Amino acid sequence: MSRVLVIGCGGVANVAIRKCCQADDVFTELCIASRTKSKCDALAEALKGKTKTVVTTAQVNADSVDELVSLINSYKPDLVMNIALPYQDLTIMDACLICGVNYMDTANYEPEDTDDPEWRAIYEKRCKEKGFSAYFDYSWQWAYKEKFEQAGLTALLGCGFDPGVTQAYCAYAKKHEFDTIDTIDILDCNGGDHGYAFATNFNPEVNLREVSAPGSYIENGKWVEIPAMSIKREYDFDCVGQKDMYLLHHEELESLAVNIPEVKRLRFFMTFGQSYLTHMKCLENVGMLSTTPVEFEGHEIVPIKFLKALLPDPASLGPRTHGKTNIGCIFTGKKDGQDKTYYIYNVCDHQECYKEVESQAISYTTGVPAMCGAMMLLTGKWTEKGVHTVEEFDPDPFLDALDKYGLPRSENFDPVLVE
Ligand code: NDP
Repeated sequence: MSRVLVIGCGGVANVAIRKCCQADDVFTELCIASRTKSKCDALAEALKGKTKTVVTTAQVNADSVDELVSLINSYKPDLVMNIALPYQDLTIMDACLICGVNYMDTANYEPEDTDDPEWRAIYEKRCKEKGFSAYFDYSWQWAYKEKFEQAGLTALLGCGFDPGVTQAYCAYAKKHEFDTIDTIDILDCNGGDHGYAFATNFNPEVNLREVSAPGSYIENGKWVEIPAMSIKREYDFDCVGQKDMYLLHHEELESLAVNIPEVKRLRFFMTFGQSYLTHMKCLENVGMLSTTPVEFEGHEIVPIKFLKALLPDPASLGPRTHGKTNIGCIFTGKKDGQDKTYYIYNVCDHQECYKEVESQAISYTTGVPAMCGAMMLLTGKWTEKGVHTVEEFDPDPFLDALDKYGLPRSENFDPVLVE
């Protein structure tokens, strides 16, 4: 029996909410609140008669702590699931603290306006001190640790696939497969084809910022930064085949380095096709990825927001995307004094996802873990107070829930390693 408030009603939230409604013994009441209420109403309508979960809707501007507080106080949820954008993480965490409610999200904080001088000064200091220059990092949300602990509340950060399941895979490897882990390579492969020359699989603004940033990885406890897309490898993925993949900065590297400190090298690779990379480079070169407003015919336009308006809505890719994703982690280390390698991953089929929840696999592989993470908090499987990432909790019940709700794990005890 629980009451959950979901904020956001985009591609990922649509999947998470539909999956919550499949587990209507846990998610008995659910309110969908977002900036555009008509999207929440349309989803609530589509769910009518298909679930016992009592679904209601609301309008909220999640940039406003006051609006969030009055919504939370009137609905009185046990948990707030933030599936809006990373820009809203801090306002929603503030509102949860004021109202005494547990919090979770799927991506760590980054500001919408990266030109804000106050934020920029902190960011530039961090770049120098830590050695990586992605706009997002955990420092903003880790700063809430004591406040959540003292309030007796839990904030679960980054509970999608990557971040999210990838960290549960690391916790699982540490718990069951290794005494010590030496290296972790996280491999994110999307072998899907949507037929467009260029489109992003989730929010274009957040996606393009991530992949156009310099890459980085951790070696012996230190960040090593490299120009964007400058380290390329090929890998033969189970059920997908041979793909080019590129080393990227990714948020879970930062928390894994803290929580599994013995690891000597931590890297993240993502596959991209040549058409995607060529388009992205061109858009970047002409300034279309910029977040700095420009004057155009008397209007102020933010180039990347304008680009978002031109690109296909990621939620519309579902019916046209064919193929599979394969996301997982390869480990090297020692067990009982012997060298060991281990690969744990999930394969997900775009069309199967569409048949089940009318979405492509990228939203599916994020929305299902969000629902399973919420289930861990609501059913008392994960109870640690404070601000935590997924690898800090027991991976077993979470991976069992993923197996059951659509993202089963596969294992390989003799994987090809990435050079
Ligand atoms: P979408 O852009 O499809 O959806 C975002 C939703 O948030 C929309 O409903 C939007 O409303 C709403 N929203 C935006 N701003 C506000 C606001 N100020 N107040 C209220 N609602 C707001 O994004 P996705 O569904 O693709 O992504 C959702 C999250 O999932 C993102 O944080 C993304 O980074 C994360 N993600 C995580 C992954 C992982 O593996 N961990 C992978 C993929 C995504 P409106 O409809 O009005 O625009």
